[in-house]
Amino acid sequence: MMTTHLLGYPRLGARREMKRACEQYWAGKASLEDLREAGRAQRHYNWSVQQQVGLDWLPVNDFSFYDQVLDTSLMVGAVPERFHFLREGAPEELLFAMARGYQQGDHDVIALEMTKWFDTNYHYLVPEFTADESFSFFSTKVVDEFREAQALGHAAKPVLVGPVSYLLLGKAKDSELDRLSLLERLLPVYAVALQALQDAGAEWVQLDEPFLAMDLCPAATAAYSYAYRALRRAVPELKLLVATYFGDLRENQSLALSLPVDALHLDLVRGPEQLASVLAERPEALTLSLGLVDGRNVWKNDFAASRRSIELAQAQCPADKLWLSASCSLLHVPFDLEQETQEDVLTPEIKNWLAFAKQKAEEVVLLARLATDEGKATYRAALDANQQAMDSRRQSPLVHRPTVQQRLRQVTPDDTRRQSAFPVRQAAQHARFHLPYFPTTTIGSFPQTPDVRRLRAQLRRGDLTLQQYEATLEEKTRDVIHRQEALGLDVLVHGEYERNDMVEYFGEQLDGITFTEHGWVQSYGSRGVKPPIIFGDVERPQPMTVRWADFAQQQTDKPVKGMLTGPITILQWSFVRNDQPRRDTARQIALAIREEVVDLERAHIGIIQIDEPALREGLPLRRADWPAYLDWSTEAFRLAASGVRDDTQIHTHMCYSEFNDILDAIAALDADVITVETSRSQMELLEAFAAFAYPNEIGPGVYDIHSPRVPTAEEMQALMEKAARVIPARNLWVNPDCGLKTRGWPETEAALRNMVLVARQLREEY
Ligand code: GLN
Ligand code: ZN
Repeated sequence: MMTTHLLGYPRLGARREMKRACEQYWAGKASLEDLREAGRAQRHYNWSVQQQVGLDWLPVNDFSFYDQVLDTSLMVGAVPERFHFLREGAPEELLFAMARGYQQGDHDVIALEMTKWFDTNYHYLVPEFTADESFSFFSTKVVDEFREAQALGHAAKPVLVGPVSYLLLGKAKDSELDRLSLLERLLPVYAVALQALQDAGAEWVQLDEPFLAMDLCPAATAAYSYAYRALRRAVPELKLLVATYFGDLRENQSLALSLPVDALHLDLVRGPEQLASVLAERPEALTLSLGLVDGRNVWKNDFAASRRSIELAQAQCPADKLWLSASCSLLHVPFDLEQETQEDVLTPEIKNWLAFAKQKAEEVVLLARLATDEGKATYRAALDANQQAMDSRRQSPLVHRPTVQQRLRQVTPDDTRRQSAFPVRQAAQHARFHLPYFPTTTIGSFPQTPDVRRLRAQLRRGDLTLQQYEATLEEKTRDVIHRQEALGLDVLVHGEYERNDMVEYFGEQLDGITFTEHGWVQSYGSRGVKPPIIFGDVERPQPMTVRWADFAQQQTDKPVKGMLTGPITILQWSFVRNDQPRRDTARQIALAIREEVVDLERAHIGIIQIDEPALREGLPLRRADWPAYLDWSTEAFRLAASGVRDDTQIHTHMCYSEFNDILDAIAALDADVITVETSRSQMELLEAFAAFAYPNEIGPGVYDIHSPRVPTAEEMQALMEKAARVIPARNLWVNPDCGLKTRGWPETEAALRNMVLVARQLREEY
């Protein structure tokens, strides 16, 4: 039978036990020994689940108290100098200090930077390298955990971030430093770690090299050949598995196949086509690990399709050179579908289409068994059940809604364009709203104090009736309108008190999207997200936000801005159906949002913001795939935004990233106003907007809402003056960087008071 394994297993815990363990420890409510015990328990649980399922090799060192890239930094001793005072103490203290910063006594050091792990919603801690970086085998975590698994009798396969990917994930602190030049110094440390694993009894070691599935510069290509030749020389006996994922190998295929390693893992979900060419080019001694079960999404594997790939591989490759796995680590999917027992949350019909980590582990094993003749007979029932689930999904009226499809077919290019060009709209909007120069506004949410957050739980528990709940929300909304009026803001918002989360709120109201009770995936550290699942054609049964926008507008004569989440952000922060292109799902959501936009306009909401913070993070990993994505994603936004009159003003908002490289896409959205996060980059972004001659109105965030610090009027004024040097003053808005929901009221009011002052000042100057 084919060998089965996983690249990694989720580590937050079925009930987020590790979240609690870490947070208790951080709060000083649990001891270091408690924390370690919780970690041990989690690892043992994960291994025993995988072993019981019947996997041959279990991943080790996929566990982390925070992040596997940070663990790697500790393994190789890449500890920035500001943390050196913690090197002698408990390793967990150093780990958490690097992850979260450290403020105690006379120490005040900031954490490593955090950024997205490829195109997932997982965030890793960016290694920092200096020119005089000297690596050493500092943390022995991987060896310790290997021994731990071994002592339990498991067939353990240690997992490491590969050396080339590790360097490419990091950041040079000295501008002249080329990260890859550190390879020579880094490899001896990997060699020592691998030797230690071999000495401890390891047979196989997995080295994750996702960059082999990305665009590589010539230096990185050379680094791969060099690195793996060096490692091979260092540990000639140890079996090395190089894992690629999140894409296909494309032009890196020959490189990957030429590495002197024992096995290569392929992501056959993202790159199914590469199987044939890899099989044709495979060196005889190389084992292939087929990543057939989707590690990035929650759908049940289609056994018929997977078996075709397996048969193709079996026809060209001896059975002992084939392994079976999921496409990538299961870190990115929830723990166990069997925890979903509430049928009113997740219906049995939809549940039957899904597989979470445990179920995916079972699928890998089952697929291997089905690939033998006797297995086919023994597991007939499982095969039939899978076929039946696939058929049910393919035919379900929950998935396929003729009204949506018909509506989609009727979309014309005109539906994705506003009636007039921006200058005409701008004139109409100025005539309608009479806003001053440098109009002030906010991004949508206002402080969600604990009492607001409690409201929803109280409603859910039945401690509040719907009337009581809504009455309280009305009170909060009225209050936030009055506060904004008192501050002198020009365009008001309703505060978003009725929203738990900007995607969940819409997901709950749209048909074709469902939720889970326990479907958490790690976002960073102890933090999880519970993404909605888009399972079918998306349709809006009724207005979603009009009630609150309308209520807020009734409280004031100032314009209230309606607040929506855009189609790409809803798509990006959900598990998305895999039975049609993402583009089609985006268009369906766009149509639903468009209906909402039109309803808001009809309710006399003249300014409507469609947030798209996730537009940039949806970019494909390969540059060659960018144009197609930007084309359909901006079109989806325009489809959502273009159903309104010229004098209705459409805003959009973006944050979390640099936008310099997608400015033409941002311009292609053709929003009348964009508010964008810029303050942390000191308005550098604006120079790019100016150089690009961005045509529409723009509100560069003048202060960072991620900190409670109250910005002074002077600094905001300086930022706006900088902005006004490159962007026509008539096109500039004054607003914070992002929504204020994580802030408290005192700093929010103080900051906005200063902000309004700045706008007034600017109006005198320009
Ligand atoms: N309107 C949302 C808010 O203010 C926007 C959030 C975001 O950009 N992430 O909270
Ligand atoms: Zn934002």
